[in-house]
Amino acid sequence: MSSTGPYDIVIVGGGMAGLIAAARATELGLSAAVLEKGEGERYPCNARMSGGVFHIAFNDIKSPPATLRAAIDRATGGSADPGQTQAVADKAGALVDWLGKQGARFIRTKVAWQNYILAPPRPLRAGIDWIGRGPDVLLRQLVANIEKRGGKIHLGTRATSLVMKAGRCTGVTAETSGQSLTISARAVVLADGGFQSNSDMLREHITPAPAKLKQRGGVTGAGDGLRMARDAGAAATALDRFYGHLLCRDAMHSDAVWPYPELDGIATASIVVNTQGARFLDEGRGGVWIANTIAKQADPLCATVIFDSKIWEGPGRSARIPANPCLESAGGTIHRAPTLTALAEKAGVPAAALEAAVAAHNACVHSKTFTASSPARTPEKFTPWAIEAAPFFAIPICAGITYTMGGIRIDGDARVLRDDGSIIGGLYAAGTTTGGLEGGESAAYLGGLTKAGVQGLCAAEHIARTLTS
Ligand SMILES: Cc1cc2nc3c(=O)[nH]c(=O)nc-3n(C[C@H](O)[C@H](O)[C@H](O)COP(=O)(O)OP(=O)(O)OC[C@H]3O[C@@H](n4cnc5c(N)ncnc54)[C@H](O)[C@@H]3O)c2cc1C
Repeated sequence: MSSTGPYDIVIVGGGMAGLIAAARATELGLSAAVLEKGEGERYPCNARMSGGVFHIAFNDIKSPPATLRAAIDRATGGSADPGQTQAVADKAGALVDWLGKQGARFIRTKVAWQNYILAPPRPLRAGIDWIGRGPDVLLRQLVANIEKRGGKIHLGTRATSLVMKAGRCTGVTAETSGQSLTISARAVVLADGGFQSNSDMLREHITPAPAKLKQRGGVTGAGDGLRMARDAGAAATALDRFYGHLLCRDAMHSDAVWPYPELDGIATASIVVNTQGARFLDEGRGGVWIANTIAKQADPLCATVIFDSKIWEGPGRSARIPANPCLESAGGTIHRAPTLTALAEKAGVPAAALEAAVAAHNACVHSKTFTASSPARTPEKFTPWAIEAAPFFAIPICAGITYTMGGIRIDGDARVLRDDGSIIGGLYAAGTTTGGLEGGESAAYLGGLTKAGVQGLCAAEHIARTLTS
């Protein structure tokens, strides 16, 4: 086994959280190394594939901290960790200003929460399209900045365990080119991006059938950071929620229809039925919640969204990359029929059950009473539309998992905590590998880029303060 270091800070993972932590640390004069398991200049990660929109719970990131705190509390029903909430609300605005100084360029749209989108933005069409787009450009810029300030990026280097001495983290063991390497450090930041691509962990916490979820991202989150942190005595938050979207089921075999368009806007206006043609979830709780609920079914590939021509022309066109017309032009499966009976045959569900589900839904819409529907529907957040204007539509859907929302418990400075709330010296975590901010009963999504960026900044700044005090 060879060894290297010591560095002031070693970071596991070169996504948004890790590169921001490294760039800030080197700016503050620390010696830093990033261990990244991916190879090549454009190694995959969720950050590189992202849409690049910095927001907090769909609010303008430059809103006053009190507004952002209230938005987080509202979205999570108060379940978010107060220390992390405070940090994200307080530093979100400073994050995008700092990124600007690192060379990030932003555009804005007319939508208020889309004031900071990394430029150049991805084109508004279906399918994979991230090369040369804003997030890819920013990550490569951050790498250049880190290296210019003397930081090291070790590609093809997978961290496997933490080095602990007397309860304190003093380095990382990694594998690179078939060799073991120990890198000693005064502080370690875990930023490996979650466990969404680890089938065993998914089966334990999220779904009975991991292979029936669509991996809607870089497929790099193997849960290494969570495992290493747990081995070192760290606490984990609830691990049962993920951020993701509803996708056309063709995404299971075709790259033309993911990561966009999402079908959340259509599903929350209409109904989702199972193979028996019956509703089985509360569509009014939002696309992320629906994706989580579908994932928990014995067969997560059981769901079909049923709607009509008014929904297709309304909510079907309202997303940034809308299903109408993007899904159709990408060749996604869309069943259309003049009657519900004919639609049921095309969608492979029993006609009588489908007609009954639609009739019950329409009765609720017209009487504006949703508590009686089975299952009950939340009408406040998303307006339910009647399904009565032919032609009728059916799209078989699947749950696309982007990242897990539970993970390593941290405080507002990104320090890793034990079950008893004490701090593990020298150990920090940032980004998707952490938990406690997003998720909860409502499967609240607050914005993964902002979370990753703020926590990366917090970790680097706390380490710099500690090492220089
Ligand atoms: C299609 C898509 C669209 C999105 N759009 C948005 C958006 O518009 N706005 C938004 O806020 N969020 C968005 N997100 C989410 C956002 O990308 C993530 O929240 C963010 O990238 C998380 O950053 P991270 O650094 O924690 O993880 P990642 O960016 O995934 O980086 C983790 C890195 O760690 C590396 N790694 C893993 N294990 C190891 C190991 N053992 N050793 C060394 N390296 C390791 C991985 O290879 C990877 O490079 C989107 C995501 C996707 C996929």
